[in-house]
Amino acid sequence: MLDPGTYTGTYKVIGGELCLDFANTVSWRGTERAHDWLYNFAHFGAWGELVGLITEQEQADLMNAAEQQPDQAQRVLQKAVVLREAINTIFSDLRYGKPLPQPELAILNAYLPEALGHLQVGVHDNEVSWVWSQDGIELERILWRVVWSAANLLMSERIVKLRTCEACAWLYLDTTKNHSRRWCTMEDCGNRAKVRRFRQRAQSS
Ligand SMILES: [Zn+2]
Repeated sequence: MLDPGTYTGTYKVIGGELCLDFANTVSWRGTERAHDWLYNFAHFGAWGELVGLITEQEQADLMNAAEQQPDQAQRVLQKAVVLREAINTIFSDLRYGKPLPQPELAILNAYLPEALGHLQVGVHDNEVSWVWSQDGIELERILWRVVWSAANLLMSERIVKLRTCEACAWLYLDTTKNHSRRWCTMEDCGNRAKVRRFRQRAQSS
């Protein structure tokens, strides 16, 4: 779990796609109760481990490297936030049927060559697949995968399943059979909406 600090909510992995979960590292974006889960580099690393991008050992190595190069860690975090907001805008706009926003697409495209420079074709048990280079401790290794996820989702047929939570606007892919998912999670926004509807009915009767 990501440490919420003094914030009273929780972060949940609900996007169904890495880049969407990355966009969701801000809760209640643009509202008074907005909370940024990546407010320091340690949280960025913890998020990477939470979503399975890096192992516990890699997370510890990243933190050591970040301590030795605090300026670079800060730069990576700033880059992460810029990319995250671009990714969020791109997919939120798509969700509402708007055209791809060009400035945000340019941010994503500018980072792609750097990310793809670490992508290789690997073979394991006669299976060929994409693998990420493991050389050295790169503070940005989490971002490479996020960017690759965003580029792939944009071209995937799964993009038609893209939705936003009706309450908090978190992004997710609705993979339910009847396309009926309206909330990030039933426990959070779903239940709150139910309680609100119940109160409204009670008041009006
Ligand atoms: Zn929600």
